[in-house]
Amino acid sequence: MQLYPVFLSLNKRHCLVVGTGKMATRRASALNKSGAIVSLLMDDPSAAALPQTRIIDWSVEQWTDNKTLPSIDLSNYWLVFAASDNATLNEAIARECEIANVFCHIEKNAKTSSFLLPAIVDRSPLLIAISSGGAAPTLARTLKTRLESLIPSAYAGLAQLVASNHLRVKESIPGASERAAFWHRLLSSPLGELSFSLNEKSLQRSLDEELAQHQQPKAENTVTGTVSLIGAGPGAPDLLTFKALRLIQSADVIVHDRLVSPAILDLRRDDAELIYAGKAMANHAMPQHSINQLLVDLAKKGQHVVRLKGGDPFIFGRGGEEIETLADQSVPFQVVPGITAASGCAAFSGIPLTHRDHAQSCVFVTGHLKNDTINLDWENLRDPNQTIVVYMGLTGLARICEKLIENGRDENTPAALVERGTTPDHKVHSATLSTLPSLIEKSDVIAPTLLIIGGVVSLREKLDWFEPLNAENSTETG
Ligand code: SAH
Repeated sequence: MQLYPVFLSLNKRHCLVVGTGKMATRRASALNKSGAIVSLLMDDPSAAALPQTRIIDWSVEQWTDNKTLPSIDLSNYWLVFAASDNATLNEAIARECEIANVFCHIEKNAKTSSFLLPAIVDRSPLLIAISSGGAAPTLARTLKTRLESLIPSAYAGLAQLVASNHLRVKESIPGASERAAFWHRLLSSPLGELSFSLNEKSLQRSLDEELAQHQQPKAENTVTGTVSLIGAGPGAPDLLTFKALRLIQSADVIVHDRLVSPAILDLRRDDAELIYAGKAMANHAMPQHSINQLLVDLAKKGQHVVRLKGGDPFIFGRGGEEIETLADQSVPFQVVPGITAASGCAAFSGIPLTHRDHAQSCVFVTGHLKNDTINLDWENLRDPNQTIVVYMGLTGLARICEKLIENGRDENTPAALVERGTTPDHKVHSATLSTLPSLIEKSDVIAPTLLIIGGVVSLREKLDWFEPLNAENSTETG
């Protein structure tokens, strides 16, 4: 490590800014914000003076004519920012600072600067500073952008909560290591996560409850974890919500379905336990009631359980049943929506699910066969201006197309089967209600697949944009 990282307290301390341009303005205003007393050495007498700065009286001609710097005592300043647009002036100031033992930052000159300015993620009082030591400032800024999205602004509220309760917790838990353990447990618990959705009052209440529980005699101290029921989206990991990502990364145990892609499971902590509770059609890996009970049992051990389901947990996902059991057994839970297969597959196939000229409504149905029949309200599916999205419709595809035609939907209605939508294997088979079954019969289709029916499917010809990594050309029949 060639740089020594510090956070400076500049409140009421004198600092010097050299310059009048954009960078000088930026440096002066950041210094003002941190409470510093800013003096300004203007390199252009005609420029407007920066607000809240003390102007140093000197004649710039001294510099332009014979390179003479003003006779100021640089050791009066804690920091100097050589931020003039004139590089030679900046370097001359820096040389003087070196002699006076004053730290100097030179604009666009990391090599000669005696301190560097990091990229900052500001969640005051929480500050994250990133530096590449001047080697790759763009990389540092890219990382900053990533952290900005990973660390929501609500973290500031969490930091304030800790600060304002510091003394109270200290009084309640006098032992330093026990207190550190309390804070650690609290902040890595769902409270940390709740700070993003709760207001200040509810946060304070949660902290009070935790503290009260901590003080109960150990025998009565029953810990309960929580369950987060999370939609993992249709496959591509970058279609997860930020919230889903944060919770996945904080989970002690993840109970997942078959549809959740390995790339998403890889986002978990190294030490998180993984439990497969997936179901393939006729192959129930774990009965639903056992899954429901498993979630309760894991949470009652005090763990943060993430129940991860493909798509959205409330759309053909039996998510409702799972949290009903949690509610019955008083286990706290939250639900995080995900991008459902219909949205994901449609977007990645260039098929808008509604469109002013083609469809004013859209309906999601399941094509799941029960005792070899499909129970759908066929009458209500005949509207030519309604898009139909069929989940779990591959096995019953021929039957569904036939029934729709039988019940009055035009046999030339465009229809597409989207295979492994949004993934690198994304593939679209498009045809019409009457021709799709034979096209699918001829193709080696791999689940999961989603059936989209309606005039909107024809828009794909113009709006298709996604180029999947692996899939060969999608198939088409008129
Ligand atoms: N809760 C999920 C749906 C679960 S039912 C959601 O909201 O998406 C499972 C069905 O979803 C599959 O049979 C298939 O029809 C559809 N499906 C899920 N992911 C899919 C994908 N990536 N591509 C195509 N269909 C998908």
